[in-house]
Amino acid sequence: MDNIEEYLSQFEDFELAFFCKYKLETYMDESQNSIRAYIKKRNLDEEKMKALIEQYSNKKFPDGDLRCSRCKSKRLDIHKEKSFSFTSLNSIKYIEELIRYKDINSGNISFTCNVCGLDSK
Ligand SMILES: [Zn+2]
Repeated sequence: MDNIEEYLSQFEDFELAFFCKYKLETYMDESQNSIRAYIKKRNLDEEKMKALIEQYSNKKFPDGDLRCSRCKSKRLDIHKEKSFSFTSLNSIKYIEELIRYKDINSGNISFTCNVCGLDSK
């Protein structure tokens, strides 16, 4: 990934913490170094990230939006009958609209989390 820093700049602090915990190891050494450097830039250290992970693991949100069950991020690739994947923020907005009209608990929607990599299936 060329623009890892640009990509990560869209992440909130808690998302970076989960990303670091679950995804960092999946990148090549060079990328891992860039990621670590960027995390430092954001003033995040082990302790802060641990605290964020603890906080968000049990966090409840009243808005009913579809979130990753592990990291609570809304950056999900949604899979429905036809598999499709949206990554831009505009598309995520569109997906959120779509999901409002669906029963997200019906099991019709599955997702892969872009932050922590969780696959709901
Ligand atoms: Zn996640």
